[in-house]
Amino acid sequence: MRRAGFDVVVHDRDADPAATGGYHITLDRAAQDALRDLLGPELHTRLLASASAVRRRPPDVWFDWRGRLLGDLDVAGLDPDSVDVDRITLRLVLAEAAGDSLVLASTCTAVERDPGPDGEVRARFADGSVARADLLVGADGPQSLVVAHLAGRPTSRPAGVVGVSGRTRADDLDPGRAAVLGPRSSLAVGPGGTALYCGYLDPAGFAVLDAAHLRASVTTGPTYVWGAMFPTATAPRDLRGRDGDRLRATTLDALRAAGWAEGPLQVIARTDPATVASYPFTVGPERARDTAPWPAGRVTALGDAVHCTPPTAGKGAGTAVVDAHALVRELVAVRAGTQTLHTAVSVFERDMRHRGSAVVELSMRTVRRVLATATPAGSALTRASLPLLARSTALRGARGRRSRT
Ligand SMILES: Cc1cc2nc3c(=O)[nH]c(=O)nc-3n(C[C@H](O)[C@H](O)[C@H](O)COP(=O)(O)OP(=O)(O)OC[C@H]3O[C@@H](n4cnc5c(N)ncnc54)[C@H](O)[C@@H]3O)c2cc1C
Repeated sequence: MRRAGFDVVVHDRDADPAATGGYHITLDRAAQDALRDLLGPELHTRLLASASAVRRRPPDVWFDWRGRLLGDLDVAGLDPDSVDVDRITLRLVLAEAAGDSLVLASTCTAVERDPGPDGEVRARFADGSVARADLLVGADGPQSLVVAHLAGRPTSRPAGVVGVSGRTRADDLDPGRAAVLGPRSSLAVGPGGTALYCGYLDPAGFAVLDAAHLRASVTTGPTYVWGAMFPTATAPRDLRGRDGDRLRATTLDALRAAGWAEGPLQVIARTDPATVASYPFTVGPERARDTAPWPAGRVTALGDAVHCTPPTAGKGAGTAVVDAHALVRELVAVRAGTQTLHTAVSVFERDMRHRGSAVVELSMRTVRRVLATATPAGSALTRASLPLLARSTALRGARGRRSRT
């Protein structure tokens, strides 16, 4: 909005954009196009110079809990033109774009609206300050205060899965283990609804642009960004803490108790405890008609605040970026005098209802699959069927090798 010439102030309760969990973020073509427009060519090029191209790395695969290869993983909805960027790098670039419009360590505590379509809009902050605006946009993520104000209640709910994630440098793994994981992302599934995602991030190795001098990534070498998943109902209570050492130990114990072999767990055992964090998956409405259930006005919201998206589709951040771009486009038309603010917000929210609910539905497919293996029948089926699948994958591999020799 700032780049489009609007007078804008961004308040964020975080004091430091770099002080956040450092998972990678996959941005599809639509999100990249939106970001180019929003950031301008210079910052966008710097972001791409720090990104790795999904198309350049081998296809994702899946394993079972004992480390046996099951085959290629068909990632629903993955755009081959996607790029992976480091989350901290993305936040730093966005903060730079916001420039002196960004007010950090500023926690919003209340939203107020005077009655009537032109009633004043105010945001109150923890330090006692008040901001007045023509339009207030809540981009305040899961458990959004702005959405609770608009809808009169939270519109997101727990998804039934708790995740623990961390980062492990490929160099810190045994060479044999690093070779099994390879320069690709993978998902390992086990009994009792347990799963372990290993995302491969290598901005230098699979660079999108040949422009190393522009690289701003905080990821220094090939890194696995792992995420273990447990059904909330059976997850150990200790998984809700903040102590990285303890979280790592609890995660390992819980996976071992579910029968996981040591090989797949090495990526967790060798992780830097400072990078380990746990987060319950939160999910927004899966139907467009339940998304943003309020009349259009001078307060709106976007991104996870409206359509909170579990990480299982890798689309939440990209969709938030596309929302922001769509809103700016509508507001530019208001300034040009071709539509009213009310119409602009209405059109924006109508489109966001469809866009947001579609990605929420996509991301919940994997969550449901994980939860299906958590039942006694699902666990038994997992234990029985995956070894058979692994054997057939191994046989196909052996036959392929024989026919090549
Ligand atoms: C492990 C993991 C991996 C993921 N991987 C991907 C991926 O590969 N690709 C992808 O597209 N998505 C991914 N996602 C999802 C993605 O992170 C979210 O969808 C995305 O961050 C949503 O962006 P947002 O700006 O709407 O909300 P957020 O990123 O949650 O940002 C909300 C901001 O609002 C601030 N805030 C909140 N409340 C207040 C308040 N009261 N006052 C002031 N400030 C406030 C917060 O400090 C924060 O900076 C992943 C998520 C996780 C947990």
